[in-house]
Amino acid sequence: MTTTQVVNPATEQVVTTLELVSAAETDAAIERAQRAGADWRAVAPGDRARLLRRFAEAVDANLEQLAQLEVANAGHTIGNARWEAGNVRDVLHFAAGIPERLLGNQIPVAGGVDITFHEPLGVVGVIVPWNFPMPIAAWGFGPALAAGNTVVLKPAELTPLTAIRLGELALEAGVPEGVFQVLPGKGSVVGRRFVTHPAVRKVVFTGSTEVGKEIMAGCARQVKRVTLELGGKSANIVFADADLERAAATAPYGVFDNAGQDCCARSRILVQRSVFDRFLELLEPAVRGVRVGDPSAESTEMGPLISAAHRARVASFVEPSTKVAFTGTQPDGPGFWYPPTVVLPDAPSDRVLTEEVFGPVVAVVPFEDEADAVRIANDTEYGLSGSIWTNNVGRALRVSRGVEAGNLSVNSHSSVRYWTPFGGFKQSGLGRELGPDAALAFTETKNVFIAT
Ligand code: NAP
Ligand code: MG
Repeated sequence: MTTTQVVNPATEQVVTTLELVSAAETDAAIERAQRAGADWRAVAPGDRARLLRRFAEAVDANLEQLAQLEVANAGHTIGNARWEAGNVRDVLHFAAGIPERLLGNQIPVAGGVDITFHEPLGVVGVIVPWNFPMPIAAWGFGPALAAGNTVVLKPAELTPLTAIRLGELALEAGVPEGVFQVLPGKGSVVGRRFVTHPAVRKVVFTGSTEVGKEIMAGCARQVKRVTLELGGKSANIVFADADLERAAATAPYGVFDNAGQDCCARSRILVQRSVFDRFLELLEPAVRGVRVGDPSAESTEMGPLISAAHRARVASFVEPSTKVAFTGTQPDGPGFWYPPTVVLPDAPSDRVLTEEVFGPVVAVVPFEDEADAVRIANDTEYGLSGSIWTNNVGRALRVSRGVEAGNLSVNSHSSVRYWTPFGGFKQSGLGRELGPDAALAFTETKNVFIAT
């Protein structure tokens, strides 16, 4: 029996010890999910909707407990953790609207009737990273269940606690046994089986681009469907005509939220050269003012990194030769802390500009004009999100169309709403989650012609 210790990253204390699921147990769970699928897809749309609504209500009734679990397991600030549990509830309520609205087409044809159906795929495997354990899980299992699939879900080994609780809440809400199973275990064991087991018809993966490529290649052997949400190196583009005070005051939260462990982190701030110095002057107090510390305190804005190993990786981006403009604060004592850090790269090839740091390190770079801003923003393998700060509506729209990224915000840093589509261009991913079409990613379109 392999076990894992779940560690609180703010205190380095062991929260609990868990047994990890083996390959044989994974196979058994996948086969249970396959058997449960026959009944689940036959549940009347209104009844499936009602079960998802009850699941949402169970999440809401346990929102504070889920949030506290995430604070202890992932070091998320309590404010963020409450939002994340609320997001699971909202995704489930939105998903509850799907079964009765999974509309097909009736297409005019000669000699008969032609109709389309959105058939469930079967068993869906969801592989979740440690950075947003609750929302990322729900973006997969909510619409997948709504469309009539059964789900096996693997949380990250570092952060399994909220997913395990969500699995219990589904059962308490009346979701039948085998329909939604949470399997804490290793990526190389449980995650790998999702890719290789032929009964799993789709893999939804969020995590590193490196592992995502491996998963895509593995799935290719069975032409298995995949949705991939991978890394990012998003740009926050600040034009001279923007409200500079607001752009500077909000920029830290666009990158340091969740300690920068966010695929949407705006980890490159591009500033028009004419206001570059002024922007840095305004940014400094904003960065120093980020409240870093005990994530369970209501006023805390940034907690620790997830692990000692991850902190070492983040720290490796700030080399002795790196020009550090200024840093924020970090508490003393135990915990995997790293301060908000602003760096001024020497060259476009600097690692801190080309690789995803996944920590509270942001690079600030000047640009000349609109075309230069778009060119720099697109000078990356990634294309997940980004922000554009300007008071010129035409420019906001031109630049929004020019930046190769899936999720942009103008004069804001918001990326995610459960009712709008989310996903990446280029090596940031494949497919979309959330939004009006969320369920279609978990169905096959079937066309039926009936001769009359
Ligand atoms: P990762 O290795 O990509 O892990 C993500 C998930 O995939 C985890 O549940 C992991 O399981 C699982 N996994 C790992 N190898 C697998 C395999 N061969 N087959 C199937 N599943 C597998 O990410 P990480 O190592 O935690 O983080 C590394 C870097 O990835 C970060 O520093 C960051 O740059 C990036 N990242 C991006 C996101 C994002 O939201 N886009 C999220 C997380 C990480 P276990 O970890 O439990 O073994
Ligand atoms: Mg890994």
